[in-house]
Amino acid sequence: MEFTERVLVLRVGRFRESDLWVRFLSPTRGILSAFAFGGAKSRRRFPGCLDSFNEVLFQVSSSRKNVYLALQEGVLLHGPRRVRADWRRFGLAQNCRKFLEAFGVAPEGAAEAHALFSGVLQVLEEEDSPPPALPLLFRARLAFDQGYSLDLRRCAVCGEDLATRPTAYFQVEAGRILCPDCRNGGGRQAYGSRGMTITRETLDALAQVRDYPLSAWRKGALAALSDVGKKECLRLVDSFIQYHVGLYWEKNGFWRA
Ligand SMILES: [Zn+2]
Repeated sequence: MEFTERVLVLRVGRFRESDLWVRFLSPTRGILSAFAFGGAKSRRRFPGCLDSFNEVLFQVSSSRKNVYLALQEGVLLHGPRRVRADWRRFGLAQNCRKFLEAFGVAPEGAAEAHALFSGVLQVLEEEDSPPPALPLLFRARLAFDQGYSLDLRRCAVCGEDLATRPTAYFQVEAGRILCPDCRNGGGRQAYGSRGMTITRETLDALAQVRDYPLSAWRKGALAALSDVGKKECLRLVDSFIQYHVGLYWEKNGFWRA
């Protein structure tokens, strides 16, 4: 196998004295790892390429019997200057990158994940104050895009439009949202006891994140969420992801339960 593609570099590590390994996100193949033999010493084949969050055109070939991939050469297309120079921007990008890697991206979901992650890097590069809620909303959108669905518009029991009510109730184990009447009307035991009340603002923000491109919710949900909304989003998104995707945050990284 041999291919040439525009990809996003996620991480670079050293492997033996002069060789590096590179993990990157391809828009057609998902997350891949490849060796850059001689990459630590000879910068000629990969000028400025081998660094996290670069957009690079890589020429990749596979070894005999397809045991591993090797990078033949690279051309740097774009390197985020502010993300690299500012530790807050870099930290937010790293947080998203860690989640992306722990989540895993298969070829079927690669185009969406690639577009989303490049959008995140663009926001972190362009915004004057880096939005702290970005990793949280990134986690939500990635999970939605990759097939974890959550009805944010209608009560899962009676079907009532949740936009007519000031609050709703999220049942963690069932992964569904109820109107206040259905929440009080019972059925809670059958679906476990974990849950939380959420306000309309949170539902609207998450619906925006799910249904519109990042360029749209960048000015909406990402910029305008109140502190209460952020707290609710954090609880809802992280408990949804922990319970249904099986990923949780501990010791500075995401892990599979
Ligand atoms: Zn209901």
